Amino acid sequence: MRRKLAAGNWKMNGLAASLSELDALTTAHADPKVDILICPPAPLISAAVVQAADHPLAIGGQDCHSAASGAHTGDISADMLRDAGASHVIVGHSERRTDHGETDDDVRAKTRAALEAGLIAVLCIGETLEEREAANTLEIIAGQLAGSVPDLVTAENLVIAYEPVWAIGTGKVPTLNQIGEVHDFIRTKLIQRFGDGVGNSMRILYGGSVKGSNAADIFAVSNVDGALVGGASLKAEDFSPIVSALESA
Ligand code: PEP
Repeated sequence: MRRKLAAGNWKMNGLAASLSELDALTTAHADPKVDILICPPAPLISAAVVQAADHPLAIGGQDCHSAASGAHTGDISADMLRDAGASHVIVGHSERRTDHGETDDDVRAKTRAALEAGLIAVLCIGETLEEREAANTLEIIAGQLAGSVPDLVTAENLVIAYEPVWAIGTGKVPTLNQIGEVHDFIRTKLIQRFGDGVGNSMRILYGGSVKGSNAADIFAVSNVDGALVGGASLKAEDFSPIVSALESA
Protein backbone atom coordinates (compact mmCIF):
# COMPACT_ATOMS: atom_id res chain seq x y z
CA MET A 1 0.00 0.00 0.00
CA ARG A 2 1.62 3.26 -1.11
CA ARG A 3 1.04 6.28 1.14
CA LYS A 4 -0.28 9.04 -1.08
CA LEU A 5 1.46 12.42 -1.32
CA ALA A 6 0.09 15.88 -2.05
CA ALA A 7 3.09 18.09 -2.84
CA GLY A 8 3.07 21.83 -3.47
CA ASN A 9 5.78 23.68 -5.38
CA TRP A 10 5.60 27.41 -4.73
CA LYS A 11 8.32 28.09 -7.32
CA MET A 12 9.55 31.72 -7.12
CA ASN A 13 6.42 32.91 -5.33
CA GLY A 14 5.85 33.95 -1.77
CA LEU A 15 7.18 36.26 0.93
CA ALA A 16 7.20 35.76 4.68
CA ALA A 17 3.54 36.78 4.84
CA SER A 18 2.68 33.81 2.60
CA LEU A 19 3.58 31.42 5.41
CA SER A 20 0.15 32.08 6.92
CA GLU A 21 -1.07 29.71 4.21
CA LEU A 22 0.69 26.91 6.06
CA ASP A 23 -1.37 27.64 9.17
CA ALA A 24 -4.55 27.51 7.13
CA LEU A 25 -3.43 24.21 5.59
CA THR A 26 -2.54 22.54 8.88
CA THR A 27 -5.77 23.75 10.43
CA ALA A 28 -7.78 22.26 7.57
CA HIS A 29 -5.78 19.00 7.66
CA ALA A 30 -4.86 18.44 11.28
CA ASP A 31 -4.83 14.64 10.91
CA PRO A 32 -4.42 13.95 7.20
CA LYS A 33 -4.70 10.48 5.69
CA VAL A 34 -2.04 11.41 3.13
CA ASP A 35 1.42 12.98 3.26
CA ILE A 36 1.48 16.72 2.63
CA LEU A 37 4.59 18.55 1.42
CA ILE A 38 5.15 22.21 0.63
CA CYS A 39 8.29 23.40 -1.15
CA PRO A 40 8.56 27.17 -0.62
CA PRO A 41 11.34 29.36 -2.03
CA ALA A 42 14.66 28.76 -0.26
CA PRO A 43 14.63 31.93 1.91
CA LEU A 44 11.36 30.76 3.51
CA ILE A 45 12.38 27.18 4.28
CA SER A 46 13.68 27.71 7.83
CA ALA A 47 10.67 29.74 8.87
CA ALA A 48 8.34 27.25 7.20
CA VAL A 49 9.99 24.40 9.11
CA VAL A 50 9.42 26.24 12.40
CA GLN A 51 5.84 26.92 11.48
CA ALA A 52 5.18 23.33 10.41
CA ALA A 53 6.74 21.85 13.56
CA ASP A 54 4.24 19.69 15.46
CA HIS A 55 2.07 19.46 12.35
CA PRO A 56 1.89 16.69 9.75
CA LEU A 57 3.34 18.95 7.08
CA ALA A 58 6.72 18.33 5.44
CA ILE A 59 8.82 21.16 4.04
CA GLY A 60 11.11 20.75 1.04
CA GLY A 61 13.46 22.60 -1.27
CA GLN A 62 12.91 23.14 -4.99
CA ASP A 63 16.42 22.24 -6.15
CA CYS A 64 19.86 21.41 -4.80
CA HIS A 65 23.40 21.37 -6.13
CA SER A 66 25.10 18.06 -6.75
CA ALA A 67 28.14 19.03 -4.66
CA ALA A 68 28.15 19.09 -0.87
CA SER A 69 29.86 22.51 -0.76
CA GLY A 70 32.17 24.70 -2.80
CA ALA A 71 32.51 27.69 -5.07
CA HIS A 72 29.00 27.71 -6.56
CA THR A 73 27.65 31.20 -5.95
CA GLY A 74 23.93 31.28 -5.43
CA ASP A 75 23.50 27.52 -5.23
CA ILE A 76 22.26 25.47 -2.30
CA SER A 77 23.51 22.05 -1.28
CA ALA A 78 21.35 19.17 -0.12
CA ASP A 79 23.10 19.30 3.25
CA MET A 80 22.08 22.94 3.61
CA LEU A 81 18.45 22.06 2.93
CA ARG A 82 18.61 19.25 5.48
CA ASP A 83 20.29 21.57 7.96
CA ALA A 84 17.49 24.08 7.49
CA GLY A 85 15.01 21.34 8.39
CA ALA A 86 13.80 20.32 4.95
CA SER A 87 12.94 16.66 4.47
CA HIS A 88 12.41 16.64 0.70
CA VAL A 89 13.77 18.30 -2.42
CA ILE A 90 12.40 18.57 -5.94
CA VAL A 91 14.98 17.68 -8.59
CA GLY A 92 14.81 17.84 -12.37
CA HIS A 93 11.78 20.11 -12.60
CA SER A 94 11.25 21.01 -16.25
CA GLU A 95 11.75 24.69 -15.42
CA ARG A 96 15.23 23.80 -14.15
CA ARG A 97 15.87 21.61 -17.16
CA THR A 98 14.78 24.45 -19.49
CA ASP A 99 15.94 27.60 -17.67
CA HIS A 100 19.24 26.17 -16.41
CA GLY A 101 19.99 23.57 -19.05
CA GLU A 102 19.94 20.70 -16.57
CA THR A 103 20.57 17.35 -18.19
CA ASP A 104 19.64 13.87 -17.03
CA ASP A 105 23.23 13.49 -15.80
CA ASP A 106 22.87 16.66 -13.72
CA VAL A 107 19.57 15.48 -12.30
CA ARG A 108 21.01 12.07 -11.41
CA ALA A 109 23.93 13.75 -9.60
CA LYS A 110 21.57 16.07 -7.72
CA THR A 111 19.35 13.15 -6.78
CA ARG A 112 22.33 11.21 -5.46
CA ALA A 113 23.41 14.25 -3.41
CA ALA A 114 19.89 14.59 -2.02
CA LEU A 115 19.74 10.95 -0.97
CA GLU A 116 23.21 11.08 0.59
CA ALA A 117 22.08 14.09 2.63
CA GLY A 118 19.09 12.13 3.90
CA LEU A 119 16.49 13.96 1.86
CA ILE A 120 13.63 12.41 -0.07
CA ALA A 121 13.97 13.41 -3.73
CA VAL A 122 10.90 14.22 -5.82
CA LEU A 123 12.29 13.64 -9.30
CA CYS A 124 10.42 15.20 -12.21
CA ILE A 125 10.22 13.78 -15.71
CA GLY A 126 7.94 14.61 -18.63
CA GLU A 127 7.68 15.16 -22.33
CA THR A 128 7.32 18.41 -24.29
CA LEU A 129 4.37 19.02 -26.59
CA GLU A 130 6.54 18.38 -29.65
CA GLU A 131 7.64 15.06 -28.21
CA ARG A 132 4.06 14.02 -27.48
CA GLU A 133 2.85 15.08 -30.91
CA ALA A 134 5.67 13.06 -32.46
CA ALA A 135 4.43 10.03 -30.46
CA ASN A 136 7.72 9.91 -28.55
CA THR A 137 6.32 10.26 -25.03
CA LEU A 138 7.13 6.79 -23.72
CA GLU A 139 10.59 6.83 -25.30
CA ILE A 140 11.33 10.19 -23.62
CA ILE A 141 10.04 8.95 -20.28
CA ALA A 142 12.13 5.79 -20.52
CA GLY A 143 15.23 7.84 -21.35
CA GLN A 144 14.68 10.27 -18.48
CA LEU A 145 14.09 7.45 -16.01
CA ALA A 146 17.21 5.62 -17.16
CA GLY A 147 19.32 8.79 -17.17
CA SER A 148 18.04 10.69 -14.13
CA VAL A 149 17.40 8.00 -11.53
CA PRO A 150 20.52 6.76 -9.75
CA ASP A 151 20.93 3.11 -8.85
CA LEU A 152 20.84 3.27 -5.09
CA VAL A 153 17.26 4.38 -4.52
CA THR A 154 14.57 2.99 -2.28
CA ALA A 155 10.82 3.36 -2.27
CA GLU A 156 11.24 5.60 0.76
CA ASN A 157 13.81 8.05 -0.55
CA LEU A 158 12.59 8.63 -4.10
CA VAL A 159 9.29 9.83 -5.52
CA ILE A 160 8.77 10.12 -9.27
CA ALA A 161 6.68 13.04 -10.56
CA TYR A 162 5.35 12.69 -14.10
CA GLU A 163 4.85 16.24 -15.34
CA PRO A 164 4.13 16.75 -19.04
CA VAL A 165 5.92 20.03 -19.78
CA TRP A 166 2.99 21.28 -21.85
CA ALA A 167 0.61 20.82 -18.92
CA ILE A 168 2.60 22.86 -16.39
CA GLY A 169 0.96 26.18 -15.67
CA THR A 170 -1.07 26.05 -18.88
CA GLY A 171 -4.45 24.77 -17.72
CA LYS A 172 -4.05 21.92 -20.23
CA VAL A 173 -4.27 18.43 -18.79
CA PRO A 174 -3.68 15.13 -20.58
CA THR A 175 -6.65 12.81 -20.89
CA LEU A 176 -7.03 10.33 -18.06
CA ASN A 177 -6.05 7.58 -20.49
CA GLN A 178 -2.85 9.43 -21.37
CA ILE A 179 -2.00 9.90 -17.68
CA GLY A 180 -2.73 6.22 -16.98
CA GLU A 181 -0.64 5.05 -19.92
CA VAL A 182 2.43 6.95 -18.72
CA HIS A 183 2.01 6.07 -15.04
CA ASP A 184 1.58 2.36 -15.85
CA PHE A 185 4.65 2.59 -18.09
CA ILE A 186 6.70 4.21 -15.31
CA ARG A 187 5.56 1.51 -12.87
CA THR A 188 6.65 -1.21 -15.29
CA LYS A 189 10.04 0.43 -15.81
CA LEU A 190 10.59 0.81 -12.04
CA ILE A 191 9.76 -2.86 -11.48
CA GLN A 192 12.06 -3.93 -14.32
CA ARG A 193 14.95 -1.95 -12.89
CA PHE A 194 14.47 -2.20 -9.13
CA GLY A 195 12.42 -5.36 -8.73
CA ASP A 196 8.89 -5.96 -7.48
CA GLY A 197 9.42 -4.70 -3.95
CA VAL A 198 10.89 -1.27 -4.66
CA GLY A 199 9.21 -0.90 -8.05
CA ASN A 200 5.73 -1.49 -6.68
CA SER A 201 6.24 0.63 -3.55
CA MET A 202 7.72 3.77 -5.09
CA ARG A 203 5.23 6.60 -5.41
CA ILE A 204 4.45 8.20 -8.76
CA LEU A 205 2.86 11.66 -8.70
CA TYR A 206 1.12 13.42 -11.55
CA GLY A 207 1.84 17.13 -12.05
CA GLY A 208 0.50 19.70 -14.50
CA SER A 209 -2.48 22.00 -13.94
CA VAL A 210 -3.97 19.94 -11.11
CA LYS A 211 -6.85 21.80 -9.47
CA GLY A 212 -9.61 21.04 -7.03
CA SER A 213 -11.94 20.57 -9.98
CA ASN A 214 -9.93 17.85 -11.75
CA ALA A 215 -8.06 16.25 -8.84
CA ALA A 216 -10.53 13.48 -8.01
CA ASP A 217 -10.62 12.23 -11.61
CA ILE A 218 -6.81 12.25 -11.86
CA PHE A 219 -6.41 10.48 -8.50
CA ALA A 220 -8.71 7.67 -9.70
CA VAL A 221 -6.24 6.78 -12.47
CA SER A 222 -4.14 3.66 -11.87
CA ASN A 223 -0.67 4.23 -10.44
CA VAL A 224 -1.35 7.89 -9.60
CA ASP A 225 -0.19 8.17 -5.99
CA GLY A 226 -0.71 11.89 -5.59
CA ALA A 227 0.17 15.16 -7.24
CA LEU A 228 2.89 17.75 -7.56
CA VAL A 229 1.02 21.04 -7.72
CA GLY A 230 2.32 24.46 -8.69
CA GLY A 231 -0.15 27.33 -8.99
CA ALA A 232 -2.91 25.71 -6.96
CA SER A 233 -0.58 25.11 -4.00
CA LEU A 234 0.00 28.78 -3.27
CA LYS A 235 -3.25 29.31 -1.41
CA ALA A 236 -4.54 26.89 1.19
CA GLU A 237 -8.08 27.40 -0.11
CA ASP A 238 -6.97 26.02 -3.50
CA PHE A 239 -4.63 23.30 -2.26
CA SER A 240 -6.88 21.98 0.49
CA PRO A 241 -9.54 20.55 -1.90
CA ILE A 242 -6.72 18.70 -3.73
CA VAL A 243 -5.54 17.21 -0.44
CA SER A 244 -9.12 16.24 0.40
CA ALA A 245 -9.61 14.63 -3.01
CA LEU A 246 -6.46 12.59 -2.48
CA GLU A 247 -7.65 11.51 0.97
CA SER A 248 -10.89 10.26 -0.61
CA ALA A 249 -9.20 8.51 -3.55
C1 PEP B 1 4.71 22.32 -11.30
O1 PEP B 1 5.32 23.38 -11.36
O2 PEP B 1 5.30 21.31 -10.92
C2 PEP B 1 3.31 22.31 -11.69
C3 PEP B 1 2.73 21.15 -11.82
O3 PEP B 1 2.70 23.52 -11.90
P1 PEP B 1 1.12 23.77 -12.14
O4 PEP B 1 0.37 22.93 -11.12
O5 PEP B 1 0.93 25.21 -11.92
O6 PEP B 1 0.81 23.31 -13.53
